[in-house]
Amino acid sequence: MKNKSPKVAVVGAGPMGLAVAYELTLKGYKPEIFEADNRLGGMAASFNFDGLEIERYYHFHCLNDHAFFDLLDEIGLKKELKWKKTKMGFFYQNKLYKWGSLNSVLFFNKASIFIRIRYLLHALRCLTIKDYSYLDKISAVDWLKNWLGLKGYYILWEKLFEYKFYNFSSTISAAWIWSRIKRLGKSRKYLVENLGYLKNGSLELINKLEKIIIKNGGVIHLSNPVLCINPIKNGGAIIKSVNKTDIYDSVVTTIPIPLLTKIFIASGIDKDVIKNYEKTISIACACVILKTSKKITDNFWTNINDNRYSIPGIVEMSNLRELDSYITYVPFYMPEDHPNYLKSNANLINEAWDCIKKINPNLEDKDLISSCCNRYRYAQPVIGKEYKKTLPSKEPFKRLFTVDTTFYYPEDRGISESVGFGRDLVRKNF
Ligand SMILES: Cc1cc2nc3c(=O)[nH]c(=O)nc-3n(C[C@H](O)[C@H](O)[C@H](O)COP(=O)(O)OP(=O)(O)OC[C@H]3O[C@@H](n4cnc5c(N)ncnc54)[C@H](O)[C@@H]3O)c2cc1C
Repeated sequence: MKNKSPKVAVVGAGPMGLAVAYELTLKGYKPEIFEADNRLGGMAASFNFDGLEIERYYHFHCLNDHAFFDLLDEIGLKKELKWKKTKMGFFYQNKLYKWGSLNSVLFFNKASIFIRIRYLLHALRCLTIKDYSYLDKISAVDWLKNWLGLKGYYILWEKLFEYKFYNFSSTISAAWIWSRIKRLGKSRKYLVENLGYLKNGSLELINKLEKIIIKNGGVIHLSNPVLCINPIKNGGAIIKSVNKTDIYDSVVTTIPIPLLTKIFIASGIDKDVIKNYEKTISIACACVILKTSKKITDNFWTNINDNRYSIPGIVEMSNLRELDSYITYVPFYMPEDHPNYLKSNANLINEAWDCIKKINPNLEDKDLISSCCNRYRYAQPVIGKEYKKTLPSKEPFKRLFTVDTTFYYPEDRGISESVGFGRDLVRKNF
């Protein structure tokens, strides 16, 4: 066990911040964690929705989320991890099609047989690529157009990009979309999609980590956003938060880089350092949640290609997790300065419900029991070509580590990736 006296601050208590703090306590440190929100969990946090404790944003796990499984095993939660065979759908030209399986793609008669075969070959190819370096240099849109042809791209992919990245769509790297397709593709047993979930949602993981961190001497400051970080020449930094100013020998920030950039600017950090942070762009998410008296479809995930709605898909959580009610997430992704982001929650809920009634015309307004909308400003980083080159340094100042979900590129943001990356950072640097 190391000397316990060095003081360590962790900024942000999402899955990564909590994993960093947990790993530090295993090494004998007693970290102080600063969290802006009034609850732990970041994007994976839960809230009470009409009597049901659920995540603000939908979460599922894949068969290859190894860092997540290792952590669950270690903290005694492995038995809470459940698996389910899930279905996918595709809503196109006012009709709901089956999707995601070999047969569903082969029988999708809205695209030519050539497109269908090319789509399947591309999905297969994604599973066999080992060296992604060439994908790093090309755009996802160009790569998909090459594989599927223009028509195939417009039917099957265009809206998914448009309603997630808007004007950034053409800049997204092929390596990013490849890693997403591969993650889901590998979450199949005998070709059937198998997705996982914690019996009581991500809250179970968050609560358990909190308990262990506190038991091991860590301290958690909720509702205490960090305002300034001033690096110290010999290492560490002075942290000024809403309720406290103190000196730390080491600091790990896990908050989204665009937020850290603002803190660095407020702290008067050298412009030459800040310019490396300013390149990170992130898309916001306004996520509608609906509780209904009837199922919408049998699918967990339904992709949508419909010009009437700026919705890339819906996620029926109650077709994955065993819940007492029918719960559906409808994400609206968009850049913060897009007019859609100014729409009120009520407006977005109306659009979501209207779209869902088109998917399942048997639904009537009386079937909508309750609704809400949560927003996360920095929800999806825009991963451009040769992304690694645009990332700022992991340790721009001695013993001040600045990381977030973009640092595990080409993997997309995910709980497994965040906890794995956070733990690894501590193992290598403390
Ligand atoms: C709509 C949506 C769906 C998702 N679906 C899945 C899924 O199915 N499966 C999956 O594995 N992952 C999914 N994710 C991603 C997953 O939630 C994230 O990858 C993970 O939560 C990231 O954790 P993190 O700790 O790295 O970052 P975050 O969760 O962003 O945590 C950062 C924390 O920093 C805090 N913070 C910000 N500013 C300050 C400050 N100044 N001072 C102190 N604290 C601050 C924030 O409040 C937050 O708690 C999804 C995310 C979204 C938005």
